[in-house]
Amino acid sequence: MVTGDNEGFWSAAEEGRLVVQRCAGCRALHHPPRPMCPDCRSVDLGWEQAVGTGVVYSYALLHHPQHPAFEYPVVAALVDLDEGVRLVTNLVDVEPHQVRIGMPVEVAFEPTADGFAVPVFRPRGAP
Ligand SMILES: [Zn+2]
Repeated sequence: MVTGDNEGFWSAAEEGRLVVQRCAGCRALHHPPRPMCPDCRSVDLGWEQAVGTGVVYSYALLHHPQHPAFEYPVVAALVDLDEGVRLVTNLVDVEPHQVRIGMPVEVAFEPTADGFAVPVFRPRGAP
């Protein structure tokens, strides 16, 4: 759901950019976006473009419950960005049995039927 806190994240995704929230008070990066810095309680928060690369911290292969919008198994993953924040995402363009913890990945953007773009990750250097 798009809210005032994450609208900047989703509008950047529509432009093919991955952004991370940065606190102007203490310069810390956070994800997911939130209304107040959890470190210094500043509400002066902005967006910073991420390079879009990281590594798989952990993952799970989801088989159920199934929805027609997805191909199964869905590879749900926690990806540590090079900037030091962790995202919940999906891995694409990889066979589920080939996913490894520590695998280098890069962001890609998948359009949705309702006009959004969702950041997903694929093995780095995949065609
Ligand atoms: Zn802060």
